[in-house]
Amino acid sequence: MIENYKNIIGERKVSELKIIAEKLKNKSILNVNSTFKGGGVAEILTKMIPIMESLGINIKWEIIKGNEEFYKVTKKFHNALHGVKEDFSQKDFEIFTETNNSNIEKIDMDKDIVFIHDPQPIGLIKAKKDNKWFWRCHIDLTNSDKRVYDFLKQFIPKYDGCVFSSPYFSKTDIEIPQYLIFPSIDPLGEKNKEIEKEFIEKVFYDFGIDIKRPIITQISRFDRLKDPVGVIKAYNMVKKHIDCQLILAGGGADDDPEGVKVYEEVLEERNNDPDIHILMLPHNDLIINALQRGSTVILQKSLKEGFGLTISEALWKEKPVIASNVGGIKYQITHKYNGLLSNSIEGTAHYIKQIIENPEYGKYLARNGKEHVKENFLITRHIKEYMLMFLTESDKDVIYF
Ligand code: UDP
Repeated sequence: MIENYKNIIGERKVSELKIIAEKLKNKSILNVNSTFKGGGVAEILTKMIPIMESLGINIKWEIIKGNEEFYKVTKKFHNALHGVKEDFSQKDFEIFTETNNSNIEKIDMDKDIVFIHDPQPIGLIKAKKDNKWFWRCHIDLTNSDKRVYDFLKQFIPKYDGCVFSSPYFSKTDIEIPQYLIFPSIDPLGEKNKEIEKEFIEKVFYDFGIDIKRPIITQISRFDRLKDPVGVIKAYNMVKKHIDCQLILAGGGADDDPEGVKVYEEVLEERNNDPDIHILMLPHNDLIINALQRGSTVILQKSLKEGFGLTISEALWKEKPVIASNVGGIKYQITHKYNGLLSNSIEGTAHYIKQIIENPEYGKYLARNGKEHVKENFLITRHIKEYMLMFLTESDKDVIYF
């Protein structure tokens, strides 16, 4: 399977991966997060694990299990860490701790390396023996709620290292080594591989969307931080001048209990406009792939964003992208070079109009976008950096590969 990537990254980079993987062959690795489906973390692990197995690495993936109350608490944690105001009671913290403790008995963490993803399972660290533990944070912590951050911080010193998505998120009050590693997309997975034009057309036809008129698309979980209502407002501004259509497509995530409520809010904002297509989708990478490829312009109007894989996904498909100037997005888009960054609904509307009216400009941005993703955000680079991290014995504060 790793051989398939030679066509994209070249033989030399594939052989580098094999050399590094060889050194990990006698190690067992376990990943733990909170969902197998939905959201960027599950997306990355789904693609990464089979590739690492094809490199001969003994790597497993487990999820922690909690009840509805636990996911309500962790969703509040997620929002609060992104800087959203949430109310917490002592009980919330107890639920979090109890669920983490009860999962310690259910998951076999007797591995050489345990890799914990995001806050939900951070408390499993209590099970650490003399093995190596890493914590991967995908959230932009720059404006995080102090109470939640301080609560989580108690677990961090026990880890051997933590990983942030960008230099901008790294913390000065953490005393263990910090690794700065960007997320990534899999260019050969069903989400991003080349697909037939006929298939793309069929997907649009089946959803009743006219592929011949301009299409503005945002793919995201129904989450307020993705600002789906702001997307509709921007579309409404453009629609006064240009005959266009809007797609807001997103399934839920098993660990996100707010999706249905937000979906209903978005339906209301739609105001029965037949050119607004709000698609609550079952998990299907090929359909997302087709929707991205058949669109005229892709939006990611997030109010907060750890990284935003959907941006790299669209850029890889040579689509012009307009995204908010927040969090990890700025590492993917350099304004007016490989995409457009916007700070408001009005700005987003202005840029949508500009791209629809000037397709050559859109193509220029998108071509640069694909190159940027190829150099920086492919899964092979990500795997290399994780493998190096697993092998590194570091006492440095901040490590870039
Ligand atoms: N995604 C999907 N189906 C959906 C909505 C999103 O497959 O209905 C995927 C999307 O293509 C991307 C991931 O879920 O790969 C979302 O990752 P991102 O970093 O953009 O946001 P997150 O959900 O992690 O906040």
